[in-house]
Amino acid sequence: MEHNGKLYIETVGCQMNMLDSELVVAALRNQGYELCESPKEADTVLFNTCSVREHAEHKIYSSVGRLKYGRRKRPNQVIGVIGCMAQKDQQKVFEKAPHVDLVVGTGQLAEIPRLVDEVRTTRKKQVAVSLGRRDGSRDAVAGSFTSYDPLRDPQMRPSPWQAFVRIMIGCDKFCTYCVVPTTRGPEQSRPPSDIAREVRTLAEQGVREVTLLGQTVNSYKHTEEGRLHRLSDLLEMIHDTSGIERIKFVTNYPKDMTDDLLQAMRDLPKVSRYLHVPLQAGCNDVLKRMKRGYTVEDYREMMQRINATLPDCAVSSDFIVGFCGESEESFQKSMDAVREFRFKNSFIFKYSPRPGTKADDLFDDDVPESVKKRRNNELLALQTAISEEDNAEFIGRTVEILVEGPSKKASRERASMDLPGWHDAAKLEATDDGAGADTVPADSSGAAASAAMQLVGRTKCDRIVVFDGNPRLAGTLAEVRVEDCTATTLLGAIVTREVQHGSAGLLPILS
Ligand code: SAM
Ligand code: SF4
Repeated sequence: MEHNGKLYIETVGCQMNMLDSELVVAALRNQGYELCESPKEADTVLFNTCSVREHAEHKIYSSVGRLKYGRRKRPNQVIGVIGCMAQKDQQKVFEKAPHVDLVVGTGQLAEIPRLVDEVRTTRKKQVAVSLGRRDGSRDAVAGSFTSYDPLRDPQMRPSPWQAFVRIMIGCDKFCTYCVVPTTRGPEQSRPPSDIAREVRTLAEQGVREVTLLGQTVNSYKHTEEGRLHRLSDLLEMIHDTSGIERIKFVTNYPKDMTDDLLQAMRDLPKVSRYLHVPLQAGCNDVLKRMKRGYTVEDYREMMQRINATLPDCAVSSDFIVGFCGESEESFQKSMDAVREFRFKNSFIFKYSPRPGTKADDLFDDDVPESVKKRRNNELLALQTAISEEDNAEFIGRTVEILVEGPSKKASRERASMDLPGWHDAAKLEATDDGAGADTVPADSSGAAASAAMQLVGRTKCDRIVVFDGNPRLAGTLAEVRVEDCTATTLLGAIVTREVQHGSAGLLPILS
């Protein structure tokens, strides 16, 4: 059946979902699809979903619901629900939203182009999902979840200089509140040689910073040619990839924060001094009910090892407030933990009971919503005050940053002026033969690509820095003197006045 070739995709959730969407879009673009801004224009609409909290699911179901009537006028339209919620709800998606045509789990994303065609030709609903965690042997279940890492479309990345790289899929920790072990299946690490090859390809495409992704990224292990590779080995293996300036990895599991990893971070200069290691709660009883596998004392011991090996390392956390049985006293222990560990930042979530999880089966969701909300606000206010105090320590210091590109503010201004997006500006840079600023095309986009604007970058310890500079700095390391701060951002002025650009010599960047 004919279709207009326009694809709309909405993505909710974590970085893993963002990467999945990037890859699905790349596969469809290879088949001639073109991205568009509204589901109303598109004959193919995909929702890449998250099941971690109920709120995320509601959001998706209401977006899907809004398409119900438009769909009647567009018989060619194919609507697909993909990712975590598809794996979790399976046929239930069709009961809740009968106008959906396609349900594809996290382990079957590679099949999307074929399944979309199948719906178009047969007009029959299609479902492709993996086995449930209890539907077979571990190997059989693991085999039904395949890691999806096809070649990239550089255009799909949020910035041309940064890319996510999946190093593992799934999770075997089974924290009692969490659906991820069900929606993403058993923990499986990718072969290190595949990862190294992907990083090399990305570097050749201009990527300067890679973020390695895994639900418990520091649990990575893979035996290749008789040798066990841990995350520390993988970091060493990819560290010297030509063109790569910075390597990050998220998210870490406290129990797996081994000394070899901390030492690798210390010894490998391109690895960020940043660790996202969620504590989740500051009370041992709550941690036990969450089945996190560590106590606050274990976490403290881990922090001491981090501080001893990497004194300049920033640590961030996640917290769940209002988990089953969390008394006021238990909650105050989370407040104490934030005071003690002084996280760079924390993501704070109200507990959301998830059907099929141990916590939902075993415990009452007994903290009222109003109390969850109040605790969320209190913990957030405390964390914000600490983040601001710690950021203030940077005022007057000069920091090295990897420049990502225009800040959100500058990008919004650029869009409102109807100038091309950042990728287009980067393309102009790439077509510049390296002879310098004067040869950048003198049309409006070329001019916009070289005039100073607000830029954003990150320090080696992952602090966000904004400053005014020439967008040519994107993808390079630059020195910025910090002049002010908020809880989330350092505000500064560029110190570096010269940059190596292509094959040309040193060029002035700011007058
Ligand atoms: N694998 C990571 C870890 O263990 O830290 C996190 C993965 S999860 C997608 C991201 C965060 O969502 C968790 O760290 C937790 O704080 C939060 N989360 C997970 N399940 C939740 C639930 N049922 N209710 C509220 N927050 C939840
Ligand atoms: Fe979920 Fe726990 Fe696995 Fe993180 S470690 S994905 S919170 S089960």
